[in-house]
Amino acid sequence: MQIGIRGRNGMKDGAALKTSNALLSGAAGGASFIFSLTAFLYITEFNQQIVASIVAGAFCLLVSYVASERPNSESARALAALGDRLLAVESGDLTSPAPEIVVRTMPAVAAAVDSLFTEVRSSIDNAHALGMYDPVTSLPNRLHFRAEANKLLGERVRGPAGQSPAAMLFVDLDRFKAVNDSLGHARGDQLLIMVANRLRVVVTAELAEVAARRPLVARLAGDEFTQFFTTIASADEIERVARRIALAISEPFELQGHSVDIGASIGIALSPDHGVSIESLMRAADIAMYRAKSLGGGQHCLFSDELAHEHQVKVDTEKALTEAVQRGEFLLALQPQLSLRTGEVTGAEALIRWIHPRDGMRMPNSFIPVAEQTGIIGEIGDWVIAEVASMLGAWHREGNAHRVAFNVSPRQLDRGDFFGRMRQAFVDQGVPLSLIELEFTESAAMEVSENVLREIAALRADGAKIAIDDFGTGYSNLARLRAMPLDRVKLDPSLIADIETDEKARVVVQAVVQLIHGVGCEIVAEAVETVAQADILRAMGCQTVQGYVFAHPMFEDEYRTWTLNAERSGARKRA
Ligand code: C2E
Ligand code: MG
Ligand code: MG
Repeated sequence: MQIGIRGRNGMKDGAALKTSNALLSGAAGGASFIFSLTAFLYITEFNQQIVASIVAGAFCLLVSYVASERPNSESARALAALGDRLLAVESGDLTSPAPEIVVRTMPAVAAAVDSLFTEVRSSIDNAHALGMYDPVTSLPNRLHFRAEANKLLGERVRGPAGQSPAAMLFVDLDRFKAVNDSLGHARGDQLLIMVANRLRVVVTAELAEVAARRPLVARLAGDEFTQFFTTIASADEIERVARRIALAISEPFELQGHSVDIGASIGIALSPDHGVSIESLMRAADIAMYRAKSLGGGQHCLFSDELAHEHQVKVDTEKALTEAVQRGEFLLALQPQLSLRTGEVTGAEALIRWIHPRDGMRMPNSFIPVAEQTGIIGEIGDWVIAEVASMLGAWHREGNAHRVAFNVSPRQLDRGDFFGRMRQAFVDQGVPLSLIELEFTESAAMEVSENVLREIAALRADGAKIAIDDFGTGYSNLARLRAMPLDRVKLDPSLIADIETDEKARVVVQAVVQLIHGVGCEIVAEAVETVAQADILRAMGCQTVQGYVFAHPMFEDEYRTWTLNAERSGARKRA
């Protein structure tokens, strides 16, 4: 058997492994090689556990070779002890000294082992003290990543012109929060370590084909990772890497007996096309990553001019919305809800309108999604509640009030004091809670925490009505639906759009109506546009209707006149 180990001097030592002395010097040469390898791997930010495994593995090979050559010699026992010592690195032991037998029989190796560990310890301590590495995954952290990526980009710019592009990848995990919440932070951290290892494996596997040099891999924060490739062959190639990353992360992770399914949303930005600074590339990759996430996650997205434009519109809308809140540019429209049985007005839904100084009236679908993404929905929602409270307060004092429903976005519930402040707004205006109805979308209703459910139940116990909006578009957990404190379910317009002409649509609506009645809730049919639709819905057992067939949303004055007229004509019909 011949093994070839290059010592520090670069000579092949295999042939020398014949005598005991030569054997020891061979081992020392091997040790030198592995020390150098270790130092290199540490410097190149390889995971500590991987380094430990490589070191221990390589030494074990060496030790077992030597031990098999001279099984009973003291030097073989010393090498076996050395092997055990090195294996202990795997469990994190970088502090115990070299075993006594090694010190006695191979003082040079013992000294080298001790000094290696001292060096590695101090490198790790230095790196951590400098705040350069993420303590969980041992990957470079955000600060370190930026500094290194900046350096690499700078070298590129100074390099030969016309070279192939650089690429920035942003990897954000899908459903990581759910794992953290359900399995705990310790398992969440383990999962992050496993993700980091998979990222390294993919990058290493792809290295030869895609990039000339090892990319920087880093953990930016939470479940966000990033990779920077100084030069790549082409955009197609980096998209292939992204696909492999998405696939690698979509494979289940075994976490102490739990099989965990997550995914990765990946954004890609190229330099120089999408940015010439690390900041602009990170921004572009982040925007692309959000797009991948909004498309359902588990996929990648390459930054583009179209995305840049959409992002600019979003930023502009966000700025304009902040000003709109300050300048009071919103109004509420009210759309009546009628009983399908008696034709009476039973209430109204408040729908926001933005009276834009330049564009005129803007409908909610053009700004509510941005408000939700940016968090401004919190302030807008507060305004809606204050406005509904003040309007209902005035009606109530006149002795002429009926119920008003308003929409609540999931983001509004993120603020812990939402329910307390909302209740206070109505108390301040002397409005009984029986005059309000809160509408939550189906997905929001299914995802709210137990705490929020308790608050909703308390509101309902105090007289407020609770509705699920746009039912039939999200996913519903039927057990949750049954257990939820709920009064009304509003069918999504897409469910009823074709009921006049399509038998299947009628069958579906009838089944949904039965299901909702089965859990003890009333049904509101929304966006009813024709008398024929209203007749079918009535026959199916729907109680309430809201739609253009009876009335469009109106501002308060017009609404008051409309309801007065409706009440008078209703009274005339009954008389
Ligand atoms: P939504 O809560 O489901 O409101 C019903 C939407 O259907 C309203 O659109 C209403 O004008 C429209 N609609 C009513 N009847 C008909 C009809 O017969 N045919 C058709 N095609 N449409 C009808 P709008 O006012 O544009 O609001 C759209 C969405 O914006 C609302 O859907 C709601 O999700 C959101 N939104 C409106 N106001 C607020 C608000 O104050 N806060 C929040 N968070 N979201 C709001
Ligand atoms: Mg609604
Ligand atoms: Mg709706």
